[in-house]
Amino acid sequence: MSLAGQLYKLQQLDLELQDKQQELNDVENKLTDNKALLAAETKLASQTEQLEDARKKQKGCEWELDDLQEKTRQVNGRLYGGKTKDPKELVNLEKEVKALKSQIKIKEDSLLGLMSEVEQIETDVKGVVQESERLKREWGQTQETLGPRKGDLEIELAGLKGQRSELARQIESEALSVYERIRPAKGQAVVKVERGRCLGCHIAVPTSQWQKAKAGDLIQCNNCDRILYLE
Ligand SMILES: [Zn+2]
Repeated sequence: MSLAGQLYKLQQLDLELQDKQQELNDVENKLTDNKALLAAETKLASQTEQLEDARKKQKGCEWELDDLQEKTRQVNGRLYGGKTKDPKELVNLEKEVKALKSQIKIKEDSLLGLMSEVEQIETDVKGVVQESERLKREWGQTQETLGPRKGDLEIELAGLKGQRSELARQIESEALSVYERIRPAKGQAVVKVERGRCLGCHIAVPTSQWQKAKAGDLIQCNNCDRILYLE
């Protein structure tokens, strides 16, 4: 095989290595990225706390309302029980009942507000529970499918790396260093010549150049510097 042919093969291995490495990186990112799940769990914890607070407030409000109603019953008892005859006191008791009733009205309104707040948070919590269950299932599926894929990729990569160093050992070092120098900037360091044109830059290659390349010399494109390969 010509020197350019060997380098071309090396490049194919390098491209394959690059793809597999990229895939392995993606797989590893997906296997470790549990940000969405953690965020959902944090949200759930804070909403559960909110729900407890709101329920406590609701309970407190219900007790206060019970107290006010009990008090009203007592005052009404004194007002209509017949024991109190003093008109002045009766007027005061009436005033007291009126004041209590308006307090009860206010308390009932705030109780309604608190009840709808609790209801809203319960709905939110239900939504977050579903979301975090879904994310947990997804996480499990990801681990199940991508875990083995990671292992396969690692084996494939190790195989390719072995092939690459085996091939690189057979290539003369000067040609190899030309290849290594060009590849990072150009992506492809070795390109084919087709219909007299360099496939790297699509500029015509002088006949003498491609003939030398075909004969096995290491020839670089005058225009883009890439190594020319003719089968
Ligand atoms: Zn070129």
